[in-house]
Amino acid sequence: MEIIEAFRALRGMRVLGALFDGTLRAATLDDLGYRDAGAWSNLASVYYGATRGRTLQRAAREAAGDLSLDALRVVEKHTKKLLRGAAVSEWELRVELCALRGTVAEIDRLAAARVREYNRAVQDAAKKAYGRRALRGGKNTDAQGLRTFTVTGPERIIEGVLSGVRAEAKQLRRQDPKLGYEQAMFDAFLATGGQGGGAAREMVVTVLPLAESTKVLRQEGDETIFARTDGTTITGAELVAEAMVSEDYVGVFDPVKGGVNLYRDERFANFKQRVLLSAETIVCPHPGCTTPASECQVHHLTAWEKGGNTNIEDLTMLCQVHNARNDDDPDKPPKNGTMVREPGGVVHHPPDGGPPRRNRHPIRDLSAMALARS
Ligand SMILES: [Zn+2]
Repeated sequence: MEIIEAFRALRGMRVLGALFDGTLRAATLDDLGYRDAGAWSNLASVYYGATRGRTLQRAAREAAGDLSLDALRVVEKHTKKLLRGAAVSEWELRVELCALRGTVAEIDRLAAARVREYNRAVQDAAKKAYGRRALRGGKNTDAQGLRTFTVTGPERIIEGVLSGVRAEAKQLRRQDPKLGYEQAMFDAFLATGGQGGGAAREMVVTVLPLAESTKVLRQEGDETIFARTDGTTITGAELVAEAMVSEDYVGVFDPVKGGVNLYRDERFANFKQRVLLSAETIVCPHPGCTTPASECQVHHLTAWEKGGNTNIEDLTMLCQVHNARNDDDPDKPPKNGTMVREPGGVVHHPPDGGPPRRNRHPIRDLSAMALARS
């Protein structure tokens, strides 16, 4: 019990306050082996140091409440990404982000979505983002003789490259089942030169609520943001421009009846189900999961052997990992929990019988299910 009390005492603002008033020194934390002591010191000056926004600074400290040090660092990381010309100031944004609650990973994604929303409204936001494109690293060799580099760019460009690489990797694994997923991705990347190969890429569906669809067709509502089943988002204006050239689909959703129509003909029944299920959830519905629906598998909520149907309400998209982990057999002792369809969407029932948890990924606010609910 003592150790949990010790962790509780390490609440973010309490530690930052102590670092700022000198009752705790960063050097002492260094000596104790805390890698992040320097970053905490910097945060202490942000939240307690001199600033012109003293009222908002105090409001941010209060909003933060019991947030952990890790959560506060995530807040700062996203605050620093606010573009000049946004509708809020840095301090107003900190107050808002400090009020977020959840796991650090959830706060990370919610904060990213929030800042993205503000940045999107800034003139030339896309141009500014493109200006930040980068390929970094690749200079250091590790103990196994390997090097790593990272590529950063606008989401649509990166997703475009990766969907081509993924399609190629899928073919490579079909030819050689022993090939691991990441190995195949590497081979496909080399084979395609980062262009994406000849293999057909995953189909992407854009979720369009019925009320908005007429606006988009009339080319109004340029600022409205829609979710796509590859986990990216698109504005009405971009959608109209894309519709002229791309092979992707637009699914229109009625709040009551669900999927109304898919532009382009359905090829076979399962295909349409897959598309509607993808649009419903956008990413794997398991809490904390970020795998886009376009990379998910169709999962039977009631296992086929237990009498599950292939009706759409008995199905959901689920990523490979969470599909494999789901406790399909209700007669066996619970191990990882089960996915269950409840009013408002598919949720996870944990194995300990605790309350159901849903995936709080912010892009899911634009999923067909969320739009149908609102
Ligand atoms: Zn998942």
